[in-house]
Amino acid sequence: MNKKKIAIIGGGPMGLSATFELAKLGLQPELIEADDRLGGMAACFDFENQRIERYYHFHCTGDFAFKRTLSELGLKEKLCWKETKMGFFFKNKLYRWGSVGAVITFPRISIISRLRYLLHAARCLTIKDWNHLDKLTARSWLKKWIGKTGYQILWNKLFIYKFFNYSDSISAAWIWSRIRRLGKSRHFLKEYLGYLKGGSDEFIECISNRIESLGGKIYLSSKVFSIKPNLNGGGEINFANQIKKYDLIISTIPLPLLGSILKNGGVKYPIYNKYSNCKSIACVCVILHLKKKLSNNFWININDDRFKIPGVIEMSNLRPLRGNVVYIPFYMPSTNPDYNRENKEFISDAWYCLKQINKSLQDNDLINSYCNRYKYAQPICEIGHLKNLPSINPFKGIYIVDTTAYYPEDRGISESIEYGKKIAYESIRN
Ligand SMILES: Cc1cc2nc3c(=O)[nH]c(=O)nc-3n(C[C@H](O)[C@H](O)[C@H](O)COP(=O)(O)OP(=O)(O)OC[C@H]3O[C@@H](n4cnc5c(N)ncnc54)[C@H](O)[C@@H]3O)c2cc1C
Repeated sequence: MNKKKIAIIGGGPMGLSATFELAKLGLQPELIEADDRLGGMAACFDFENQRIERYYHFHCTGDFAFKRTLSELGLKEKLCWKETKMGFFFKNKLYRWGSVGAVITFPRISIISRLRYLLHAARCLTIKDWNHLDKLTARSWLKKWIGKTGYQILWNKLFIYKFFNYSDSISAAWIWSRIRRLGKSRHFLKEYLGYLKGGSDEFIECISNRIESLGGKIYLSSKVFSIKPNLNGGGEINFANQIKKYDLIISTIPLPLLGSILKNGGVKYPIYNKYSNCKSIACVCVILHLKKKLSNNFWININDDRFKIPGVIEMSNLRPLRGNVVYIPFYMPSTNPDYNRENKEFISDAWYCLKQINKSLQDNDLINSYCNRYKYAQPICEIGHLKNLPSINPFKGIYIVDTTAYYPEDRGISESIEYGKKIAYESIRN
């Protein structure tokens, strides 16, 4: 009997995980990736002779799928944990944040609001059934718990500078799962976050080598232009100037991109349109290499009208790196005119922001700067998200998923790995 020909589109953690599972079954899957490297949002680049992620990445103690896959790949020892600190920049001052003591002593909101904030964080750890949260906006839910002023000071800017005009419709289930993920990464109330020695590259290289040694094939720099479904199942994929037939296709690339890919393959309206209509936020992520530390925090939330920045991430306070490395993300819809600004403008804004946070920083403390962009960095999970998603199996033998499929969990490496495995088994069972 002939073996099924299987293609996985997208070489991020989800595509790699799905391909790995199918390769282990001896199915010789083929992975098709548009970029010149694997890893998707978790991919690395050369940062002054060391490999770091293009976008900041950390792991939580509850990232079980990631941990299991690392063990399977013999990389368990590479995952390290560190107690991390958090800060909050408000009214031109850097406050401690993120611990019970820091919240209780935060002077800018009433003691009642502080207690309500802590109570809400604790409640997030005990909620099991999130269905009611899918019907509420994050804003109304958070306001109910911590009050109007508390919300305004602690949350409002985080939503505005991540979701802009969508801020008010983000689902409470989505923010709940984010708070819970971080809340569970605590031991005796102290936050512990993880990093991979060698960065995500370590995982990506190892899993891709394993895929190839198991008989899988990987195509890089091979952007998929079209998928033409076949009546009997599977379809034809047009990529890298060739058209190849597959019995089973699993796409793991951002859903909005599928609209034109299906349309190019002859799929009719309104099916392709359901994918084009999925909303996503872009990210312009500045990385600054500094002579001096910015702070002792890994993460600093920001509420300051001068900057369109929800927070900054001092990666070198988590993963030991040569030099002090800070990520400064600017999120926005890619239709926002700001998205067309040049890298140097974002870098200048980012540097100005850091100099306000740490007033001892001088211009000659900036050693180097980088800027990476991704149009589909954060799916917009509005209320009722699940029922609005297009079908994951619109044609026989074609599966179309991305990070929104595991809602209410936020996009994450571990979640994508777990879902990649799930969809791999589901697709071959049917
Ligand atoms: C700023 C930022 C910070 C993050 N921080 C964290 C964190 O701290 N911890 C964490 O766990 N996660 C974090 N994430 C999320 C994490 O990176 C993602 O959840 C994960 O990479 C998703 O993997 P994926 O395979 O599902 O999708 P993606 O990584 O999006 O992979 C999709 C792949 O499809 C490819 N592709 C696109 N179009 C085509 C085409 N036409 N043909 C072929 N291939 C195509 C892309 O090049 C990409 O490689 C962060 C993401 C961002 C953007």
